[in-house]
Amino acid sequence: MPIPNTIKLLFSLTLLLAIGAKMAAQQPPSQPRLIVAITVDQMRADYLTRYAHGYGTGGFVRMQAEGFTLLDHHFSYAPTYTGPGHAGIATGTTPAVHGIIGNNWFERESGQRIYCASDTTVQAVAMEGSAPGSAGQMSPHRMQSTTWADELKLHNGGRSKVIGMSMKDRGAIMPAGHYADAAYWLSGGDFISSTHYFDELPKWVRKFNNSKATEKYVRDGWDLLVDKDLYQGSTEDLTPYEGAFKGRIRPTFPYDLEELAENNGGLDIIKATPHGNALLVDFALLALDAEELGRGEATDVLAISFSSTDYVGHRFGSHAMETEDTYRRLDHDIARLFDALDAQLGTGQWLAFLTADHGGATVPSMANALGMPGGYWNSAPMAAHVDSVLNARLGEKKWVRSYDNGQFFLDRKLLRSADLEVDEVCDIIVDIARQYPEVHTALTARQLASGHFEDAPGAHVQRGWHPEASGDVAVVLRPGYIQYGRTGTTHGSPWAYDTHVPLLFLGTGVPQGRSYEPTLIRDIAPTLSALLGFPRPSGCTGSPIEAVVETRD
Ligand code: ZN
Ligand code: ZN
Repeated sequence: MPIPNTIKLLFSLTLLLAIGAKMAAQQPPSQPRLIVAITVDQMRADYLTRYAHGYGTGGFVRMQAEGFTLLDHHFSYAPTYTGPGHAGIATGTTPAVHGIIGNNWFERESGQRIYCASDTTVQAVAMEGSAPGSAGQMSPHRMQSTTWADELKLHNGGRSKVIGMSMKDRGAIMPAGHYADAAYWLSGGDFISSTHYFDELPKWVRKFNNSKATEKYVRDGWDLLVDKDLYQGSTEDLTPYEGAFKGRIRPTFPYDLEELAENNGGLDIIKATPHGNALLVDFALLALDAEELGRGEATDVLAISFSSTDYVGHRFGSHAMETEDTYRRLDHDIARLFDALDAQLGTGQWLAFLTADHGGATVPSMANALGMPGGYWNSAPMAAHVDSVLNARLGEKKWVRSYDNGQFFLDRKLLRSADLEVDEVCDIIVDIARQYPEVHTALTARQLASGHFEDAPGAHVQRGWHPEASGDVAVVLRPGYIQYGRTGTTHGSPWAYDTHVPLLFLGTGVPQGRSYEPTLIRDIAPTLSALLGFPRPSGCTGSPIEAVVETRD
């Protein structure tokens, strides 16, 4: 039977439409003028909800209302520190691959403790007359993978401008990547850089430093932004769980920063107050203008890491009024940045994401006072115990070269020369470590190199363990235990309070919504690659977050 012409016509129309749709899918995705990569140092996921009553409409709330929120977002490795965190966000992989296994770690080859961003082959680039010395000798050379910003810039034929900035050098350097145009961090109250990027500070940076902005903020002091009763996410102003500035007994408002500066790092005291974040946004706004970010032919990158949240969290803890005030003010500063981006580039013309480099523990002394588990750990007696057992069993030698970041580094050469197996010695250490009630587990290099772990903490330690750089036995503390003073808090563990952090996307090509789909830090970089259509970082082991990219095709 002949096919009627109308059906033939319908068929060809459908075919044409299908081809049209396919061709549309192959078009390059719409590109934002600028990507703003925001890291909030030590921001726990619950700070989005616990402090929500104090947020305005233009910062955290805007990101959630207009953009996409990932509610079950985690680090998939330990140790959860600043260097590895920023490197993981940038490279889309974990320390096992990118090699930034801590902020500092024991380096077997040199026998020295090294810093993740230090680089003696470069020099500080700072204001005339100032001498930041080693504070300026920094670069990303230890990071063993390209970053998403590197790949974006390469994809655009080098036309993307990439700038990183933070209070901390590592917070500026890792997110900006290897192929960055600039990274700036704060030293002695000034923004400085290194010869990895250029030989002289740009004019606008010198102008900013000369404006004495840091001094003005320090002169302002630090008092609560609003009435005390409005800090509903916090304890009273004075508790035994908070640390004080040096030279001050009580951790209570108001803080006279000018008076405290002398004993607390001079102008760098600003880092330990919310004004550090405000200063960084002031600096970012000037960069937008002076560097014409978002006004070139290709997508530019501004990577901002807010460090003051971490300094405040370390000193005052997870539930202090000082911490809530810092987030309330940060919310204003982020809104200030977003308003400027709207005004200069246009709403929807830029893409921002916000996450953290790690979370933080609830202050154990507070948890204990409320009847909850957790506590304090001192590794020194365990390390001495290991030394004495090894000396008694193997002979008096320095078998352990270092105990660093919760890991024992054995003298492998010495063991070989004494005809001893590394694995056997590791097993002895594991037996000793497990005798301590604060220790959850201890894992050997052999287990971490070839074992299979389904879940935290084993799988987390494995993904944070680099075969060449890491130690021979890794010790994991029980949940809620920290090696730290009795006031304030820290981070570094594989447990949820350190791994669970916010992830928010806002802007060009980002749908509106929220999801409890489990996502990982290493998924951020490939998500950006998928959104913009550029290759993933060289060591990437994450996957694009479907809920954010699915509307692309
Ligand atoms: Zn950090
Ligand atoms: Zn920290």
